Amino acid sequence: MSNKRFSLALHGGAGARRGHDYTVEIAHMRGLVETARDRLAAGASALDVAVETVVALEASGLYIAGKGASPNADGEYELDASLMDGPTLRAGSVAALQGFRSPILAARAVMEETPNVMLAGQGAIDFARDQGLETVEDPEAWFTRAGAFEDNHPPDALPTGTVGCVVRDAEGRLAAATSTAGVFGKRPGRVGDSPIIGAGAWADGYAAVSCTGQGEYFIRTAVAAQIAHRIRFGGESLESAARAAIQGVADLGGHGGLVSVDRDGDVAMPFASSGLKRAALLPDGTIVSAAF
Ligand code: ASP
Repeated sequence: MSNKRFSLALHGGAGARRGHDYTVEIAHMRGLVETARDRLAAGASALDVAVETVVALEASGLYIAGKGASPNADGEYELDASLMDGPTLRAGSVAALQGFRSPILAARAVMEETPNVMLAGQGAIDFARDQGLETVEDPEAWFTRAGAFEDNHPPDALPTGTVGCVVRDAEGRLAAATSTAGVFGKRPGRVGDSPIIGAGAWADGYAAVSCTGQGEYFIRTAVAAQIAHRIRFGGESLESAARAAIQGVADLGGHGGLVSVDRDGDVAMPFASSGLKRAALLPDGTIVSAAF
């Protein structure tokens, strides 16, 4: 396998609803893939490209993460994010972070500036402030889904939306990043899979995975790490490992999807949900972008 081929996949959440027009999101995701492709062609690392892409997804306000966050049942915005660097197995995450524009940058700072992997709640807030990360002064004015829970609460349990990106760079390094506001109208303090390394994100020398969907099911089946371990210890292909992991979520009664890339640059984006907003650069240079 050529060392020089690079690829990536990103998602804007498994909460795509039939009948809704996602033309704007599909074009936006394609544009981000093109930007990421150019960065990878110029030699950028998988970690940098995964983080930059998630920062752009967060900032767009188009998905339920970053600016597009929806509030919890108390009207507060508690955001979760995580990332992992395959070559070093370093990881960082924040849970129930309030008051910052980019949870993924806070997660990166946890990875790079502390000996810890995960910071939650007030400790995460204090740390992000010390890091000088950009704050949200007026949540009602900043977040695009203020009031979304009250006005437009989808009828199914644990309705969802998240963003994420997985990358294999030209040096063969893998990285994964995931960011979310969690499920709509969640209980205050509820933390899903997105900031849990091995559940909502994972990267090692075998695969990089970012998940979206009903996080409780992804935690219970350790979806992201499971895929890499199926490849590593079971000799499975990425496609087969990713499908089996999503099937495990479905078997418990959960919905969701994921994006993944393996050490050869192959991409798999299975879902067991009505849709998955997603886009990818395949190893042959083709770009795909879809919601269903
Ligand atoms: N997985 C996220 C969570 O459970 C939500 C989502 O992906 O939409 O918090």
